[in-house]
Amino acid sequence: MDVFAHALWAGAGVILARRRWRIPPRVAALTVAMAVLPDIPHLIPIVGWSVFGDGSATVVREYANAVAGQTPSAPASVDFWSHNLYCITHSAVVAGLVTSVIWFRRRVWMVPLLGWWSHIAIDVFTHSREYFATPILYPFTDEGFDGIAWNTPWFLFANYAVLSVTYLLLYWTRRRSLA
Ligand SMILES: [Zn+2]
Repeated sequence: MDVFAHALWAGAGVILARRRWRIPPRVAALTVAMAVLPDIPHLIPIVGWSVFGDGSATVVREYANAVAGQTPSAPASVDFWSHNLYCITHSAVVAGLVTSVIWFRRRVWMVPLLGWWSHIAIDVFTHSREYFATPILYPFTDEGFDGIAWNTPWFLFANYAVLSVTYLLLYWTRRRSLA
């Protein structure tokens, strides 16, 4: 799904959760940030290549909006890092490992981690075999579930329509948050 929708869905979840639990604004903001973050690291090799190598800003933009099979050609090493970083941030195996380590060490981070999990959970169903299926079981396999690509026009429209209704409902039912 696109980063704006990821942020809006996580935001809605946080608003709802704050009605029940005490979640400080800083933690709430971090949770939304964590819902957006998984779509950033894989662009770093491309940006690096455009700044220090032969790439250009146009290629970065093309990469960010790429359609599978039509990704602009980049050197093999850039492709390798970009692909694997994308897999790492979209893998439930990696997220599970990080979550278990944090569970024992810094439990305050558990709420922001839910932002990351929301990103993976949403992406699994909103990417298709033809459109970057989410590699949820990486590093065991790069294969993913064949869902509905989020950029399918009717789905994109429906998603933002449901988001608008969700925020309207949140607004109409607003109460004082606990924190
Ligand atoms: Zn994603």
